[in-house]
Amino acid sequence: MSNRKILVIYTGGTIGMIMDPASKALVPFEFEHIHEQLPMLHLIEAEVTFQSLLPLIDSSDTNPDFWVRLARMVKNEYDNYDGFVILHGTDTMAYTASAMSFLLENLAKPVILTGSQLPLGVIRTDGRRNILNAIAIAAEYYINNTPLVQEVCIYFQNNLYRGNRTYKDNASRFNAFYSPNYPILAEVNTHVEYHRSNLFRPKLDEQLCFHTRMDDNVAIVKIYPGIRNEFLESVFNTKGLRAVVMETFGVGNAPTNPAFINILRQAVERDIIIVNVTQCKGGGGVEMGRYLTGKHLADAGVISGYDMTTEAAVTKVMYLLGQDVTLEEVKKYIGYPLRGELTRE
Ligand code: ASP
Repeated sequence: MSNRKILVIYTGGTIGMIMDPASKALVPFEFEHIHEQLPMLHLIEAEVTFQSLLPLIDSSDTNPDFWVRLARMVKNEYDNYDGFVILHGTDTMAYTASAMSFLLENLAKPVILTGSQLPLGVIRTDGRRNILNAIAIAAEYYINNTPLVQEVCIYFQNNLYRGNRTYKDNASRFNAFYSPNYPILAEVNTHVEYHRSNLFRPKLDEQLCFHTRMDDNVAIVKIYPGIRNEFLESVFNTKGLRAVVMETFGVGNAPTNPAFINILRQAVERDIIIVNVTQCKGGGGVEMGRYLTGKHLADAGVISGYDMTTEAAVTKVMYLLGQDVTLEEVKKYIGYPLRGELTRE
């Protein structure tokens, strides 16, 4: 057994469920009995410890407080472990992975989120392989004692993804996650193949910096043909609102009617940040100068989110607004890759 110490943090979700023999319903199982569900665990060359973040939740109940508590747990144990695996519901795993990437600045150890589409306690579960492979990857170190992975990732169904580049794109397939604008970091087949040039590297000699504040006065608005200006107005007039992540068409296009553009312009004048991300889920990003429809948005003061996922954009804005920086700095950093979450030519 190697001396790599891995902390597995269980937060809830489908993965931690078994079939109750009496009722045949799925119920959460006691994590002290995890070894019964993972009989192969002892074969992994690492010393694995399990802890739960209580109360356990369905990931539909995640929120910025939960993200800060989870990041704090990693931070508190950072020096005691070589890597971290977080067991999390799949529904909002991409939001949590994105948020964690921003909260844990200069992370230099692996933090790998995983979960499953079927509970651990059912025969066809994908959970067993996901957990075992995530732990094995978290325990991979170079000979010079540097971890192979030094970022927040999602491991799911044979693929290791950069967490803040993914979204859940399938509700029933085992292959539930997709990273439209960034290649996978590793692939597990008969061998684990790392795509090393894709791995994020923190700044050398910088200490982990744990951020504790996120501002949730951020809304997501999806533009659709026929969207009524009254609806938009009511969102933009929400008390306390500080930013809107706006999902637009194609490379960042939206209706051109003057009333619509005016709502956006007035919001920007009231210091509400509007970030433009694309609705296209398969890839590509925002280029507001390409069509006149996008140029109207840029002229109104809308900021490009480039090729960020909605999950990355909304958690990034929550994170930036929680920091002690000026509005101009927040606007600048939105379009600047902080944790590898966007690509700029
Ligand atoms: N609703 C569950 C959750 O996200 C689904 C899952 O774990 O896959 O917590």
